[in-house]
Amino acid sequence: MTTDRTVPSGVEADVPDSETQLRLVLDLAAVYLARCDSQQRYRFVNQGYAGRFGLRPEDFIGKTLAEALGQQAYESFRPQVEAVLAGQRVDFEVEVPYERLGRRFMRCTYQPERDASGALVGWMAVLLDVSELAALKESNQRKDEFLAILAHELRNPLAPVKNAVQILRAKGPPLPELQWASEVIDRQVQQMTRLVDDLLDVSRISRGKIELRKERVELAGVLNTAVEASRPLIEKWGHQLAVALPPEPVYLEADRTRLCQVVLNLLNNAAKYTEQAGRIGLTAEREGEWVLIRVKDTGIGIPPEMLSRIFEMFTQADRSLERSQGGLGIGLTLVQRLVEMHGGRVTAHSAGPGQGSEFTVRLPVAPDTTGVAATSSEEEKAAAARRRILVVDDNRDAADSLAVLLRLLGNEVHTAYDGLEAVGASAAFVPDLVLLDIGLPKLNGYDAARRIREQYAGRGMVLVALTGWGQEEDRRRSKEAGFDHYMTKPVEIASLQQLLAELEAAKR
Ligand code: ADP
Repeated sequence: MTTDRTVPSGVEADVPDSETQLRLVLDLAAVYLARCDSQQRYRFVNQGYAGRFGLRPEDFIGKTLAEALGQQAYESFRPQVEAVLAGQRVDFEVEVPYERLGRRFMRCTYQPERDASGALVGWMAVLLDVSELAALKESNQRKDEFLAILAHELRNPLAPVKNAVQILRAKGPPLPELQWASEVIDRQVQQMTRLVDDLLDVSRISRGKIELRKERVELAGVLNTAVEASRPLIEKWGHQLAVALPPEPVYLEADRTRLCQVVLNLLNNAAKYTEQAGRIGLTAEREGEWVLIRVKDTGIGIPPEMLSRIFEMFTQADRSLERSQGGLGIGLTLVQRLVEMHGGRVTAHSAGPGQGSEFTVRLPVAPDTTGVAATSSEEEKAAAARRRILVVDDNRDAADSLAVLLRLLGNEVHTAYDGLEAVGASAAFVPDLVLLDIGLPKLNGYDAARRIREQYAGRGMVLVALTGWGQEEDRRRSKEAGFDHYMTKPVEIASLQQLLAELEAAKR
């Protein structure tokens, strides 16, 4: 085939010969094709290649790449041109500032071409314009980043509010109105924290930033924790909950907290989307190598056309519904992603509106080995002993309110508001435990931790990193900096109590 004789296609013969047919195909192809010689001169381009510049194929033939495309656009391809002329096949994506078209994202393959003797005579180029795809990808990434930042920023102010309200409640305001007001704040802040946490989780999962902390867990324990957590909502609506578990213990390789989150989300939905005094069932049964966890309700049901979309982000079956419980339509997205990260699947069934819903989570069972006991949560809840604690956070409200809470729990507490102050305070106060924020002015948390460790060389002191992000990277860095533990802000007083109890147990 001689390719430098670029004739517009489809005009040569009534019955096209094979070359004309091939040319037709090349011209119709949705990709851009070009063939260049070793002098970087065009020998062939298809209609598509020329057409997008508003030119004809013959306008290219004999010109160099730089002449035809403009020097700037040529520079974007130059490294790959050099590679292919060195005999290498190259696949690449590149952003090209075309003179005539503006910036475009191109996905390209360059294939060296040799003559019969094996000498390199040029290359064949196949190009696709993927600008729309790239723009979509970018806007999707930006959305994920935006959600992550939004959730992160919303999370921080919640911490001091939560602490402050717990202080109010612990001190027991004498007036019933105040009691009532603090309960309202408490409930609403809890609700907001749940939403923001879900948002943060979903965006982290989309960006591949969540790692499961898998361990061997016993299913019944996880289900019980979820039931306990959902009980307030279930009782508020006057629902009856029936739980049926398998007679034998079932072990899973799972992240306890995340699995609990999955079941809790489904139970809370069952409670939310069921009219007053309904029935909710939670069952688990073994099916070979799988365990099936079902959450069933007698609630409003799901219309058939919604069933397939119910797990998509921001999907809500009925937006007009009076939604005093609030929600963003991301709970089920989170459920699905977490279940899939555990190697399982979640499905939804409903016979239709008014007929109740059933969600089934199918998870792989861990291979059988006996004699592994689940950790007892009773032990974990052992009372915290009195300690000397240094709280460091540049958000003064966060630091002060956490300090007051820890004092209420019987500890001796000091506060510091930047990294340098933290180092000084730890030398003067000699704490048993330091709760150290990472993003600190003057000296960041990692460096402060290193200095505190140096002061304390050989002496027992527990360093806990506090950060808003909860990312694996932070975890790794905080370990390297000498932290013993890691907590995500806002610090839940319950998890702090648990940590204190664990430290106490470890001492014994
Ligand atoms: P949210 O509850 O915040 O709206 P979810 O992702 O948890 O978000 O749920 C998405 C939608 O699925 C809900 O808005 C609701 O329309 C529907 N849905 C979820 N669970 C149930 C259920 N048990 N019964 C009926 N509808 C449900």
